[in-house]
Amino acid sequence: MADMQTYSGSCHCGRVRYEVATALSPVLSCNCSICQKRGYLLTFVPQAAFKLISGENDLTDYLFNRKAVHHLFCKTCGIGAFGTGTGPNGEEMVAVNVRCLDNIDVDALSLTTFDGKSL
Ligand SMILES: [Zn+2]
Repeated sequence: MADMQTYSGSCHCGRVRYEVATALSPVLSCNCSICQKRGYLLTFVPQAAFKLISGENDLTDYLFNRKAVHHLFCKTCGIGAFGTGTGPNGEEMVAVNVRCLDNIDVDALSLTTFDGKSL
């Protein structure tokens, strides 16, 4: 299991930048409608482990279904680098798109499949 590490992440054009402390475990490959279409690989962290460095005004919110998760994306390049929502215990969580972290070898990750389609 990987250690906790601080990663930097961004959208494609670089307007949206953040730092996140995570052990990258688990990384979810989810089959729900938005994960499938956007190609997300997600890991969830508490709000306190996430710091938005730039781009607050470049983010557009996208809500669907139960509107429980804010699927934020950059209005310039369209990349959804992270989202926010409330976890099962009521805690504010951030869903980090692991594909948007710098210097990540996506092929080296061990993925956990998640059946989001059935929720
Ligand atoms: Zn962008």
